[in-house]
Amino acid sequence: MSPLPEISLTYAGSALDRLSEQRGDAALIQSLRQNARNFVIAGESFVLAKRGDSFDAGLSDEEAARTGEPIEIALIGKDASGCGHFARAVSPAQIDAIKAQGGFIVVDLRSIALQGLVPHADLSSLATAKALLFWHERHRFCSNCGKPTAPAQAGWRRDCAACSAQHFPRTDPCVIMLAIHGEQCLLARQTRFPPGMWSALAGFVEPGESIEEAVRRETLEEAGIPGGRVSYFASQPWPFPMSMMIGCFVEATTDKLKIDEVELEAARWVTKEECRLLLTGKHPARFFAPPPIAIAHHLIKTFVERGEGVFG
Ligand SMILES: [Zn+2]
Repeated sequence: MSPLPEISLTYAGSALDRLSEQRGDAALIQSLRQNARNFVIAGESFVLAKRGDSFDAGLSDEEAARTGEPIEIALIGKDASGCGHFARAVSPAQIDAIKAQGGFIVVDLRSIALQGLVPHADLSSLATAKALLFWHERHRFCSNCGKPTAPAQAGWRRDCAACSAQHFPRTDPCVIMLAIHGEQCLLARQTRFPPGMWSALAGFVEPGESIEEAVRRETLEEAGIPGGRVSYFASQPWPFPMSMMIGCFVEATTDKLKIDEVELEAARWVTKEECRLLLTGKHPARFFAPPPIAIAHHLIKTFVERGEGVFG
């Protein structure tokens, strides 16, 4: 069996230069601010400009100015044409005023991806903007001394003038794993899932834990299954609010389930044939797998295609 192919997941795949070494160059950042593409977020939603029958997430400077005073601005990167991409947060209280102007729609990021409202590459800029601006919103005060912090490095650091602490944007690693026992995989329902949706198990990586250890711990805690082999599949930025999904397969050493009823509403073994129905929306009970924008979809699809070959 050939190695698992690298796949391009939603919210990944940016073609931008993130300029990580040049964020402190104020003159460069200022020059990039001219004729930029501005990704404007208000609360949980983005402002998209109407362009005929389609939409553009990268607002012109003039359009961005019409969305109101920014609370925060951060550099996302520079594209191949030299154009700067910036994340711009405005107050959620602005949303009605923005909508009232015409020429804009205000949509949450999941819907933008599900409905394919913008090109794949722009989804990555939106994901960066959402996670980064959420971090700014939650780090206005120093976690070391409690005094106010100020943005630095084009929005990629916050500094505390009182104690000199520097704070950097965070990404929370989260493992999402498909447990496999022979010709079946384990799917579960969390109570917060939409009715009918079944997915892989998931949980946050804890301090002092490897990815493999987190995969086995979560599988044991949630389903009562001791894990054997673990194989890495792919990873996906998941800006809800600022996670990194690390997709894995884990070998189940038993098919006897002991479900954590606090975490899960239900869990059960599912054959490849049933997985196909879940993935294609043809399940007789109207059950379904997560959509292709989620890494869980691709974990299940890859199991259907490769079976235990996912372990190499
Ligand atoms: Zn401080």
